Amino acid sequence: MTLLAPDAKPRWRSFLEDVVSDEVQRIVSGQTNHLELKFHQIQAFDPDFADILLLQPDHILREGSNALRTYCMEMGSQQQTDPFIRVSNLPLDSRRVLRNVGHADVQRLISSEVIATKVSEIKPRINRAVFQCSCDYETEIMQRDHTELEEPLQCGGCGERKGRVKFTLVKEKCSLVDNQKIEIQEIPERVPSGAQPSSGMVILEGDLVNRVLPGTRIIANMVPQMHSERKGTRKTPLFEIFYNMVSMETETEPFTEINIDQEDIEKILKLVNDHPEPELLKLVTSSIAPSIFATPGLYQVKRSLALQLFGGVSRISPDGTRTRGDIHILLMGDPGVAKSQLLTYMSNLSPRGKFASGGSVTSAGLTAAAVKDGFSDGRFALEAGVLPLSDRGLAAIDEFDKIGKQERSAIHPAMEQQKVRVAKGGITATLNSRCAVLAAANPKSGRFEYRGGNASIMQSFAETDLEAPLASRFDLIWLLSDIPDRGLDERIATHIIRNRASGSSELQIEDQMGSIVNIESEEMTETGLDDNDHLTTGFLRKYIAYAKKNIHPTIDTEAQSEIVKYYIQTRQNYQKGMINPATSDYSLNSSKGENQTEISVTARALEALMRLTEAHARMHLREVATIIDAKMAISIFKHWREESNIRDEAELQTGISKAGQSSIVKQIMREISVENDGKMPISKILDRAMLGGIDEATVRTLVSKMQQNGIIYQPPNTPGTYEFV
Ligand code: ADP
Ligand code: MG
Repeated sequence: MTLLAPDAKPRWRSFLEDVVSDEVQRIVSGQTNHLELKFHQIQAFDPDFADILLLQPDHILREGSNALRTYCMEMGSQQQTDPFIRVSNLPLDSRRVLRNVGHADVQRLISSEVIATKVSEIKPRINRAVFQCSCDYETEIMQRDHTELEEPLQCGGCGERKGRVKFTLVKEKCSLVDNQKIEIQEIPERVPSGAQPSSGMVILEGDLVNRVLPGTRIIANMVPQMHSERKGTRKTPLFEIFYNMVSMETETEPFTEINIDQEDIEKILKLVNDHPEPELLKLVTSSIAPSIFATPGLYQVKRSLALQLFGGVSRISPDGTRTRGDIHILLMGDPGVAKSQLLTYMSNLSPRGKFASGGSVTSAGLTAAAVKDGFSDGRFALEAGVLPLSDRGLAAIDEFDKIGKQERSAIHPAMEQQKVRVAKGGITATLNSRCAVLAAANPKSGRFEYRGGNASIMQSFAETDLEAPLASRFDLIWLLSDIPDRGLDERIATHIIRNRASGSSELQIEDQMGSIVNIESEEMTETGLDDNDHLTTGFLRKYIAYAKKNIHPTIDTEAQSEIVKYYIQTRQNYQKGMINPATSDYSLNSSKGENQTEISVTARALEALMRLTEAHARMHLREVATIIDAKMAISIFKHWREESNIRDEAELQTGISKAGQSSIVKQIMREISVENDGKMPISKILDRAMLGGIDEATVRTLVSKMQQNGIIYQPPNTPGTYEFV
């Protein structure tokens, strides 16, 4: 390779002196050990030189670091480590998509928008090696990369060649640098649909190590390098590409991957303006998966999905605790009711959407995994799972019930606190998983036993084999059952047939555009099969990204009291209507009149209502959520709560309603009483109730109520033991 700038060192020297001497001073005084330059600074100083930097970055940057080191030493620097030069904000024509990087880019300076998926431990690497010859003369060799240790070819003292004399490494005189490997992947949004995202291995050094966690999106400014592939001990003529990171820019604003120009913003504002209250939600709802016919059940589902796309606002309270804004939705349903289709559609539609199927997630699963030998060099590596990779987006998880038990317990904090903590193999890290979860679950036995009437959705939930507490992590749970209905069946059939008949052959579309889903469509609306207009996927994505980025609604007091009113009302309904006065359970509840209740107001249901309210306001680009938003949120929430027949919060948490819990506890007490000549030690009651999934606090409240009501009493001199009256 002919050097385009043999005079690189003096050119750097004058740049360092003329342009950035203040920054160099900071290195000399030990405040930092690297120099961060923007490409345009070099370009303004010497445009030719800047171009050469893009063409021969290794040479230019090495000379730059040398010039910097000499300059710093002249200025009296005492630094032990060698200073580095980092150049960022590269021009757009250096931007590449990972899948297109080929031989022409090798050893050029390129930039690419990527997501880090795996991050290794740190290892020290020798940067400047000092070798001692048998004659005691010491030679310094700058090491190029991590692939092999370069020894001197000839001794500078005695003049003997390598092989005839022995060079030993003088470790204490070498200068070391931290070295870390990361795996990067193309931004999912940029991957043609259906294709696997391509990935690559990047070396980070010095101050760049530990700056990214798996799941972080960065603009990587890097130099592709070749490393010959080996077959056993022999080198082959094929090369694999790895990258050396020169600098990286972390994204400061989310959703920059979707370009929204002024014209788009005007279209969005007009759309919202032109569609008064219920119209906009209807339009967005009908734009979600138009090829799936909206039966009354599916219409409810789609409407909640519309709100999920926009999401509520995550908040950090003054004491630092965080409440999530993302809305989690679970679809349970018989096979063949278009659950998987909806999930696929949503993951394509949502900015930063990701689809995973419970049966076949990667080794990192949904959360994260520490993998031994992650880069086949013995180092531990931390790999992000689906949820961290969908950070600030949507994770559609199909076959949720097929996820391993161990993994499921890790999902609770990942969904609620939206953080994934890993402490394995010497790696501790906390990854963000701030994404909405849309999950689908099938019944264990192939079909839900249709109960109808007063059956609770929790009975169906139990049929999916998911742990009951998981249910409370979802804001909404829908049950889609496949019950024959002549009228509906006919309409679905017509819809499916028209849809198939009108679709273009996938092969033809791929030939024309190379992509099945045309997300870059410029059109705002298109006409669906039902002859109604709906929004195109491309436009909807822009609209969602714009609203999420710019609108952060707060809920006004009127809307707040509407939500509270609804909540209190449902609690009272429960008390009046849903418990059969004939059962003994009633006496437990009613002893102190109307307003005594056993239902604890869990913050979760209220939070779900607030999130739905905020999402509705956000869809309408309102900074303040009003009673209109609260009413819509309540009506959606009501639909699942009332149709699902969930009796109280306890049922959502444990799978057993309070009423159910109290009768189980009473049954247990009767058993114990029979076994122990009428005596019931509280410890026994607690132990047995625990086996039935009922917690201590619940048992203690029940027992003390029964005592107050005169059903049981505590005989004297036997603390902790009860008897029936
Ligand atoms: P699931 O994941 O619920 O088992 P799928 O998403 O695989 O079901 O759907 C099965 C098939 O039935 C798909 O081809 C889907 O398009 C079709 N289908 C089911 N319900 C509808 C509907 N309401 N409208 C359009 N297609 C439907
Ligand atoms: Mg399915």
